[in-house]
Amino acid sequence: PYSLGRTILDYDARRSAWLAAHPEFPTRVAPGGRPRVLVVTGSAPARCPDPDGDHLLLRAFKNKADYCRVHGLELFYNTAFLDAEMSGFWAKLPLLRALMQAHPEVELFWWVDSDAVFTDMLFELPWERYGRHNLVLHGWHAKVFEEKSWVGVNTGSFLIRNCQWSLDLLDALAPMGPRGPVRDRYGELFAQELSGRPPFESDDQSALIYLLVTQRSRWGDKTFVESSYELNGFWEGIVDRYEELRRKGRPGDLGDGGRWPLVTHFVGCKPCRRYADSYPADRCRRGMERAFNFADDQILRLYGFEHESLNTTAVKRVRNETGGPLDADDEELGRLLHPTFRAA
Ligand code: UDP
Ligand code: MN
Repeated sequence: PYSLGRTILDYDARRSAWLAAHPEFPTRVAPGGRPRVLVVTGSAPARCPDPDGDHLLLRAFKNKADYCRVHGLELFYNTAFLDAEMSGFWAKLPLLRALMQAHPEVELFWWVDSDAVFTDMLFELPWERYGRHNLVLHGWHAKVFEEKSWVGVNTGSFLIRNCQWSLDLLDALAPMGPRGPVRDRYGELFAQELSGRPPFESDDQSALIYLLVTQRSRWGDKTFVESSYELNGFWEGIVDRYEELRRKGRPGDLGDGGRWPLVTHFVGCKPCRRYADSYPADRCRRGMERAFNFADDQILRLYGFEHESLNTTAVKRVRNETGGPLDADDEELGRLLHPTFRAA
């Protein structure tokens, strides 16, 4: 069967030895000693066939740059196919494997799809909650382990620890993904074995759920299924509610209207693949515009501006210049301008 490369053994011991030899690159960072995190995302090597597609990718990347700056997270953007067999959504496998070995100092990798938008700029992940786990997915335990639903978790935004277990998981997933007949065959298998899944080519999310349900004792214990906040939020139920969320709540908090979605993920909207959309292109496009602007307003307000509405690119001034530093007298803005959770 296909494999990602040579079998890696003893990785944990070798990583520990590297870390012991390089105390200047600790796996935990101040303040609070949270794990060192690398946010990983990417898109196809070629330009989008749709004329709007690359512009949307730029704005999605701008959004990630904003979130990562506020939170002091490093960001890696990949546009190469490291392995021709692992094309499309499978591209994250060889990428994560290469990054793990090259960055032993990184404790957690946070994969974020190109079409996932950070919509709560203030929300900091509860890192300590995941200390005993190697994989953190958004979803519902029962939907995975009882219903075997192919949407029980989503692989558009997840955390994976830099360790042997994770390399083993990538190795276990990879044989189900090489393009061509193998990918087609596994797609049919997943359609039989998982509930609700149409028989299209195999994808990494279905493969992961398949492993979790068929080899639960091997992978289940170290997998955390998170549903207490939107590590991955499905866009359809979110994009029309941003005004309401803004009226009722604040970023990073539980307001009356509930917590703001950390991530709004445009699953099934493919601005770069004209014919593969499961949703009307204009509905996707409008939703993306609103998500980008909702997120961007959280940043622009720090500098005295906001969008005239979530549906337009036009902005207006919302605060007069004072001529002096700002956060001294505005606690609300200071929370995002000089957040206490940001690592130096
Ligand atoms: N991707 C990539 N290179 C490619 C195609 C996809 O890196 O050539 C990444 C990209 O970040 C994308 C993710 O894989 O967001 C998953 O694909 P997509 O978001 O289109 O799938 P969906 O979330 O709609 O299921
Ligand atoms: Mn996606």
